[in-house]
Amino acid sequence: MAIKNSYLKEVFEGLKKRNADEPEFLQAVEEVLESLEPVVEARPEIQANGIIERIVEPERVVMFRVSWVDDNGKVQVNRGYRVQFNSAIGPYKGGLRLHPSVNLSILKFLGFEQIFKNSLTTLPIGGGKGGSDFDPKGKSDNEVMRFCQSFMTELAKHIGPDTDVPAGDIGVGGREIGYLFGQYKRLQNEYTGVLTGKSITCGGSLARTEATGYGLCYFTNEMLKDAGKSFEGKTAVISGSGNVATYATQKATELGAKVVAISDSNGYIYDEAGIDYKIMKEIKEVKRDRIKTYVNYSKTAKYTEGCKGIWTIPCDIALPCATQNELDEESAKILVKNGVFAVAEGANMPSTPGAIAVFLKEGVLFGPAKAANAGGVATSALEMSQNSIRMAWTFEEVDEKLHDIMRSIYKQASEAAKRYGMEGNLVAGANIAGFEKVANAMIWQGISY
Ligand code: GLU
Repeated sequence: MAIKNSYLKEVFEGLKKRNADEPEFLQAVEEVLESLEPVVEARPEIQANGIIERIVEPERVVMFRVSWVDDNGKVQVNRGYRVQFNSAIGPYKGGLRLHPSVNLSILKFLGFEQIFKNSLTTLPIGGGKGGSDFDPKGKSDNEVMRFCQSFMTELAKHIGPDTDVPAGDIGVGGREIGYLFGQYKRLQNEYTGVLTGKSITCGGSLARTEATGYGLCYFTNEMLKDAGKSFEGKTAVISGSGNVATYATQKATELGAKVVAISDSNGYIYDEAGIDYKIMKEIKEVKRDRIKTYVNYSKTAKYTEGCKGIWTIPCDIALPCATQNELDEESAKILVKNGVFAVAEGANMPSTPGAIAVFLKEGVLFGPAKAANAGGVATSALEMSQNSIRMAWTFEEVDEKLHDIMRSIYKQASEAAKRYGMEGNLVAGANIAGFEKVANAMIWQGISY
């Protein structure tokens, strides 16, 4: 599919010229603009207010040096970023990613997606993202701490509980959030909810750790229900083995599915007896080890080198929960040939445009990331609410709110698709529903930024 509407085309051509070296960002924007054609045609005020040219340009980007000293006493330098993309409906909100692949293109794609995802949560949060090319893999706790303290020394000048509230993403979990929070508190002399994903004793929310994986399964369940199906008795393949994949494995299993495969960037585990999420937790959270060690815990588990092979395993439901562009057109065709009937994205932009086209053409139920993985950031917003009222809700209360939010997201996406004549296309529906709320807020606030 290509952009046909002349206004959208002009904006996208201009963006391509200015950001020619940002392929992931352009990929994310192109998908959204394709979905917005009927909206722009039905609502001339979008063009009159320059909404599209404004929404594709971050409000602010900060880029900074992060220097720290490693365990051998050697000075190391990384690059830090915060992309403050859109604050029309609330303070910037989005995770921090620590991974060697991090660059401006990756963070702009993530920040852009975050605008629409956060809008879909029904909660008042704008879109942002940040991180660094620092690789936490193989670093000691002390090295991670020194990096996080140096990173926050600069970041603290740009964030705040009513300005910008970062959280975790790939490479940033409870340990990193703790070091970042401690440094922010020391610098600002303030105990606030400036980060989410905090430990429970320091203002964190129960169920935040589980929220993205649980939310993904709640969303998938709504999508399945609408098609007269369920998780019960189905085979699922879940890529990744981080926080999202772990709790998606737990929830999918609780909902009656058998998860037969998981992966990391080196390879995948196939276990016909079903994957145990507690073993994943032990390997990843306690041992901080690679997923190939899963074979030491299960006699039936088999490890295969190379992560892409996971998509050749026959399954009914596939949940890509690893990273961007991990599922390409070729893999999508294999999944379809092997009988997959539902795919929902736990990672951000894991399916390439070619893969999405295959799923939509073949009538596979497809839950796009912006909608399907919004449970994590939604629960972050619930953490912000609890911090503001200085109260803590029970696990059950938060989980129930999360469940309601995921139901509402499914409803918003499927109704928007129907309203614009694209019934069943949740990619278009999620983009449109997420966009309209932000666009309306931008129009209401005038053209000041
Ligand atoms: N990194 C997560 C995401 O992609 C969560 C962000 C947050 O909780 O702020 O949505």
